Parts: sequence; structure tokens; C-alpha cells
Amino acid sequence: MSNSSLQKKFIADEMVGKLARLMRMLGFDTLYFNQIEDSELIDISLKEKRTIVTRDTKLIERVMVQDYILVENDNPERQLIEFLDKSGLQPDESNFLSCCLECNAILEYIPKEKIKDQVWQYTFQTHEEFKICPECRRVYWEGDHVKAMRKKLINIGIFESD
Ligand SMILES: [Zn+2]
Repeated sequence: MSNSSLQKKFIADEMVGKLARLMRMLGFDTLYFNQIEDSELIDISLKEKRTIVTRDTKLIERVMVQDYILVENDNPERQLIEFLDKSGLQPDESNFLSCCLECNAILEYIPKEKIKDQVWQYTFQTHEEFKICPECRRVYWEGDHVKAMRKKLINIGIFESD
């Protein structure tokens, strides 16, 4: 199934790091750097055709900045709602946790035997489906932490409750 919303790519500025993480959680390709010069951020956005997601009204006044979404809320969850609203993108629940929250790479399914030494025995025994980040090798599964994230997205009305 192709999903055009996933083909859109973003780069978030320093001020919206938590939002960037939430965007990744929904499977949106979102670059984020802890420290980055405005000029470099603009450069990457142009080279990689990434929409800039920012709270910085000065940044969007720059002549090179054409494609941007300005968020005005302080709260990351409200920012996420605002982002979806302004971008017109529909979150697709099947893309939940499809990219690494740390480095934005697309996660890959991995047979559980292969990560046996990387997770707690209890986790290994109680879960069947594991994904791994090809970049940072972080392993993901639908444990309590991920369930809490999903619940948060339900609470703010982005996902439907099941
Ligand atoms: Zn990663």
C-alpha cells in the first residue's frame, strides 16, 4: 500500500525536538539535530526537499525558506495536532513505530532469535514481534513503553481507541 503522506519528508528545528520524536512515532520521515545552524538546516531542507518544521518566526522570513510549517503551541502534543492540521496529513496507524525514534531510519522486522541477547528474558518470552533500527541497532517491540505511547496518541485524538 502506498501512502503519499509518508513520502513527504521533514526537518525539525532545535526548538521542536519533542515534536520531531512524536512525528517519527507516527512514521513521518523527520530529521532533527540537537544543534544546527539555521543556514545548514535550510541547506539540508533544500537538498533533500524536506519541509522545515519550526517555531522560529525569524527563520521563516529568510528568503530561501519556502516550504515550512510554523507551529505556535508550546506543548509537544498540541504541536503534533497543529502539525497534522497545517500539513493536512492523515496519520496512518499502520505506520506507528515504523521509524527509529532516535535516528529516523526505517525499522526492519527481525526474527526474535537474533535479538535474544539484546532484550530481557521476560521481554523475549512475552513478545513475538521485534523490529530493529539498521542504523543504531536499537530494538523495538510493543512493550509497556510503546503501549503508553500509543495510548497517548489515542488520548489526544490522533488514533482511535481499540
Ligand atoms: Zn536508530
